[in-house]
Amino acid sequence: MTHHDAVVVGSGPNGLVAANHLLDAGWSVLVLEAQPEIGGAVRSARDVHPDFVHDTFSSFYPLGAASPALQSLDLESHGLRWSHAPAVLGHPLADGEWALLHRDREVTAHLMELQHPGDGDAWLALCQQWDRIGDQVVQSLLAPFPPVRAGLGALRRLRSVGGLAFVQEMLTPVADVARLRFGGEAPRVLLAGNAGHADIPLTSPGSGLMGVLMSMLGQTVGFPVPEGGAGMLTQALARRITSLGGEILCDREVTRIEVDGSRAVAVRTGDGERFGVRRAVIADVSATALFGRLLAPDDVPTRVARGMRSFQLDPGTVKVDWALSGEVPWGRAPSYAPGTVHLGGSVEQMSLAFHQVSSQTVPAAPFLLSGQMTTSDPTRSPSGTESFWAYSHVPQQVRTDAGDGTITGRWDTAECERYADRMQQQLEELAPGFGDRVLERRVLGPHELEARDANLVGGALGGGTAQLHQQLVLRPVPGLGRAETGVGGLYLGSASAHPGGGVHGAPGRNAARAALLHHRVRWPRDRRRA
Ligand SMILES: Cc1cc2nc3c(=O)[nH]c(=O)nc-3n(C[C@H](O)[C@H](O)[C@H](O)COP(=O)(O)OP(=O)(O)OC[C@H]3O[C@@H](n4cnc5c(N)ncnc54)[C@H](O)[C@@H]3O)c2cc1C
Repeated sequence: MTHHDAVVVGSGPNGLVAANHLLDAGWSVLVLEAQPEIGGAVRSARDVHPDFVHDTFSSFYPLGAASPALQSLDLESHGLRWSHAPAVLGHPLADGEWALLHRDREVTAHLMELQHPGDGDAWLALCQQWDRIGDQVVQSLLAPFPPVRAGLGALRRLRSVGGLAFVQEMLTPVADVARLRFGGEAPRVLLAGNAGHADIPLTSPGSGLMGVLMSMLGQTVGFPVPEGGAGMLTQALARRITSLGGEILCDREVTRIEVDGSRAVAVRTGDGERFGVRRAVIADVSATALFGRLLAPDDVPTRVARGMRSFQLDPGTVKVDWALSGEVPWGRAPSYAPGTVHLGGSVEQMSLAFHQVSSQTVPAAPFLLSGQMTTSDPTRSPSGTESFWAYSHVPQQVRTDAGDGTITGRWDTAECERYADRMQQQLEELAPGFGDRVLERRVLGPHELEARDANLVGGALGGGTAQLHQQLVLRPVPGLGRAETGVGGLYLGSASAHPGGGVHGAPGRNAARAALLHHRVRWPRDRRRA
């Protein structure tokens, strides 16, 4: 049996970030990955069409670009290069116009002003408020809970953005924030669509902050993509790990974390290999897997076991990848080509789709989040073609189908293809002739997503709902809110931990920091082992 200071279970971005931070502190680290390749939900391949790179799961990384957990690793020195589309984000409107968010706020404001006088200034006012407090908000969200230093910084700046009125606005549902601030359609759908990146209904508290946060990240750091494919980000993280002497083994599914005297002491794989642990196990796995399978039931602290009974997943997902022979033939081309495109109609139509998903109904007209990847990074496919994808959320449990009634929630191949047809039909309406340009199509339903990454339970891409009742000190169960699990030396470092889903590495860094801190406390300098 080999021994390492730390074993990281899972090589998603959070696991790889945790490993990097522990290696920087001089620990010996082994990463064990169940899949044949590293990266978790940050991977890409030429498996849809040989001439096209497709991101298997995630694509756009505004949170990564803003996150100290990733920024501090200087991944550009390990081969990472970022690429940006001409515009950050677009949303086709019913009248054929586009709502566009350009990285240059003046351009965004100008376009909004043309559509509805007054909205340009209102957008710039929102940007200026964010300039004063945004950094502190992002740092607070990504720091371990409670975020003492960043939180104090945010409090100090609060008065300059309107004090408690600003806090109240951020807690207001995004549909209301958008309506109160803007008269035209464009800023409203942009804010609401951005809130739709999390699974918070647009009429629920918390969606306002999400909509503003993602929109303002679009204005400050953009929605960048790694040149060459999403996998280039996790490859850079892995290269940094091996350059520091860390080890990564694929095809190693961890099936048990062994606990002795209330401390994690080893991990065991499905093939019977055993890896000893001197200081810490960082679990980049879902909370359901960690507390439901990897730990023996007797090793799960009682209050955690109790809390997990009400743990709530986020909705499932159906993702469709297309290799297109030409650009997306939008009915009217946008003035700047966006990387991310939201397809969901008006705020009311998007609200309906969200409401349906959260009430176990398959939407007839789902909200689609989509990506024009060759527009974002010309290396993804031959010039003039488009590597394109769209995903839509679906209920974890289907009660009814608001469409043609043929979706039951079985999500077998035929059902996924039928749902993909529904998604493609929406595209066809906005981009007539879309279907004629399809060289290849691949559909990944909830089962396929989970088979490629066990953390995507039932196709849930956020490690558990992002709604307020499962955030901060309530994530993943009431009273945790930090990486500690109640088992000595075992830390939850995945999206199931605070602050949740997205590629920012914060749960991984928080877990590594907690492990380092506990080791220092347990082994003060003069008694610390090598
Ligand atoms: C379709 C899709 C689109 C998304 N789009 C975006 C986006 O554009 N931008 C964004 O910021 N976020 C996006 N996300 C969310 C983001 O990808 C995730 O929140 C993020 O990857 C979570 O990182 P993680 O390290 O916690 O887990 P993951 O990335 O899921 O990685 C977990 C890893 O652990 C491994 N593992 C699990 N169990 C075991 C075990 N028992 N033994 C060994 N290994 C194990 C898995 O195989 C996997 O490699 C998207 C997610 C999906 C699915």
